[in-house]
Amino acid sequence: MATPPIKGDQQLVKNINRMALLRLLREHNGIARADLTELSGLTRSTVSVLIKDLIEEGWLVEGDAHATGAIGRRPTPLGLDGTRLVLLGADLGPDAIRVAATSIRGELLASRQLALRSKDPDRACRQLVEMALAIAGEVTARGERLLGLGVGLHGAIDKRSGVLEFAPNIGWRQVEVGRRLRGLLDTAGLDGVPVYLQNEADLAAVGESEFGDRPVDDPLVYVSCGVGVGAGIILNEALFTGVSGSAGEIGHSTLVIHGAACSCGRLGCAEAYIGLKAIAAAAGCLQGAQIQRRALRERMDAGDKPARAAFARAGASLGVLLQNVWTTFNPQAIVLGGETVSLGGSALLDATMEVLAGYVTRAGMPPPAVRMAKYGDLATAVGGAAYLLHATLHPHQPALHTRYVTPA
Ligand SMILES: [Zn+2]
Repeated sequence: MATPPIKGDQQLVKNINRMALLRLLREHNGIARADLTELSGLTRSTVSVLIKDLIEEGWLVEGDAHATGAIGRRPTPLGLDGTRLVLLGADLGPDAIRVAATSIRGELLASRQLALRSKDPDRACRQLVEMALAIAGEVTARGERLLGLGVGLHGAIDKRSGVLEFAPNIGWRQVEVGRRLRGLLDTAGLDGVPVYLQNEADLAAVGESEFGDRPVDDPLVYVSCGVGVGAGIILNEALFTGVSGSAGEIGHSTLVIHGAACSCGRLGCAEAYIGLKAIAAAAGCLQGAQIQRRALRERMDAGDKPARAAFARAGASLGVLLQNVWTTFNPQAIVLGGETVSLGGSALLDATMEVLAGYVTRAGMPPPAVRMAKYGDLATAVGGAAYLLHATLHPHQPALHTRYVTPA
């Protein structure tokens, strides 16, 4: 991980200015050069030069000039170009791999989802790269430029070493995922394409923030509910990841003292009550360690009472967890996503909101806004794409990610 130098780097200063203009244009789509000059505080000639480059490189497009009523040249509106640059994201989950390609405006261009063929790190990484290459081929067929690949992992990643520290649901400890992906991409001829690694809930949070409605909610806490339970935290336009990348591991916060055993080795973790394995077990849809997803979905579709009750119990525990998130972060918005949310639907969410409302009433405080993930099951994969954009647009922020580039 490289920390940007503080002074003496003209390229860095230029890049910070370029990216400031892009961020301004995202907030004020369609404004002209004169407004950008005023908003950015840069000189007119600097703005002019930087905008010319950004148009040439595929970031920006000029719209049709519109009449202002004033005499003279009409200002030309500028906007992000959604056609020439593409971002790739992936979600390396404990049961499935999802990949997605988006434009820099957050439009979903293509996606794929397949069951994970093997939990062996080498084979899992190979499957991910195969899927990423297939989708990259599709979305760059007309000469579009690939900016990179952002990969979400279901555990904590040490941003200094780039090693996946611990992902209990896939059984990985101290796995060098980045180095593996880098090697495979280099072999496939994508040696110039950077790879970013980050935790899955963190990526989903960035996806909501980068590709969400403007102005964005901040602080924003994304709560990911699947086999694992975790949160991604956006604070002051940046991810908050903690000292070793495990901030937001709320699935392993204690809900019940001396409670049920968790995959992490502790007792009474939230995940032992809200995690999909616990729900599947309660609904009679767990065979060994395997979640019978199809059976679980069929039972929910058929309105099966024990299955709905299992989700409702988990939903009530999720309500307690959200109360803890609310009191800890006082967020502007909590976003809920993950396969437990899509499988459980109202059976889960009604119980969650009822429990949360109880805390809100007793505390006599305005409740946090709670909404559903914009990209559903693709939240992490799309978030991987969004993370690339986030890292590119914020060159002034210290790197919170591990970025793998091919050594020169
Ligand atoms: Zn735990």
